[in-house]
Amino acid sequence: MKYIEEFNDPGLARRLLEDIRATVTRPWALMEVCGGQTHSIIRHGIDQLLPEDVELIHGPGCPVCVTPLEAIDRALAIAARPEVTFCSFGDMLRVPGTDRDLYRVKGAGGDVRVVYSPLDALRIAQENPQREVVFFGIGFETTAPANAMAVHQARRLGVRNFSLLVSHVRVPPAIEAIMSSADCRVQGFLAAGHVCSVMGTTEYPELAERHRVPIVVTGFEPLDLLEGIRRAVRQLERGEHRVENAYPRAVQDTGNPAALRMLQEVFTVTDRAWRGIGTIPGSGWRLSDAYRDFDAEHRFDVTGVTTRESARCRSGEVLQGLIKPHECEAFGTACTPRTPLGATMVSSEGACAAYYLYRRLDPAVRRAEEAEPVG
Ligand code: SF4
Repeated sequence: MKYIEEFNDPGLARRLLEDIRATVTRPWALMEVCGGQTHSIIRHGIDQLLPEDVELIHGPGCPVCVTPLEAIDRALAIAARPEVTFCSFGDMLRVPGTDRDLYRVKGAGGDVRVVYSPLDALRIAQENPQREVVFFGIGFETTAPANAMAVHQARRLGVRNFSLLVSHVRVPPAIEAIMSSADCRVQGFLAAGHVCSVMGTTEYPELAERHRVPIVVTGFEPLDLLEGIRRAVRQLERGEHRVENAYPRAVQDTGNPAALRMLQEVFTVTDRAWRGIGTIPGSGWRLSDAYRDFDAEHRFDVTGVTTRESARCRSGEVLQGLIKPHECEAFGTACTPRTPLGATMVSSEGACAAYYLYRRLDPAVRRAEEAEPVG
């Protein structure tokens, strides 16, 4: 398959690895800020193939994982209302809120539906004018344009029973927050290729310069990731800190002008809480005042929601790259994909789920599993 198989070539992967090994002279820590990249790295064992001196830290790049508990609890409160049809992508349904998840709301009679596009939710609203149809709009710059388009279409078509519960987040302020943390060990970033295909690269040079970190726009296949790592390591060894585009087949510096126009029309930048991390200034989008009537938070009163995080879950530390998933005491024991305590174990892009799925287990957990295999 074009653009997939040719980026899985084992011979080329070996050559890139040899180049990285020949380049590295001391320890470096790189962070990927994309759950898709995290899964690809773990699935292909790229972190294990790299020289010991190159560490990959898995950052807050999974959209489901970083959605704050307050947003989940608001979604649960809205979804439980009898007049509401609540639409979401499937991976949000098992994300634990304070005391339940969307599956439980659905099991209790709530009209909760899985859709594959926000435009599906808009169609449901058109077909069911007696219902209030709400779409849960979460994620990074990648999903935001389609959600913006759905709201734009709703207003254009006069579909007044459609609204968006928005919890969008933006990558550059997260990089800023990570680099400003006293505990930060990150020396270079692999920027998410799909985010940059929408937004371009213009937000990154200032960050790279101020924090003196290389930022390499990187794709998702094994060769993409190895090339991104190779370029980041080469810059670090040379004492450079530039933005490089290692994913030119999808990313242009100026991004996607049509998507950017849509984002600018429908959304406005706001402070946003990140699950396990806290509020990061300017790190999110909300609906602009012109689209306020389509804001589910404005349409439904969800001000009384109180939240309570699991005391055992250390996903905040996982999301900041401070610990690896199997360093959490609950990993693989109290917390598994069947019994998740935190969003990083629920989402298909979560680091905890990736470590569990691809058997990156702490040796003690592995021994326990071998004694009593998971069904
Ligand atoms: S393993 Fe489970 S409890 Fe531990 S940090 Fe990950 S999601 Fe939270």
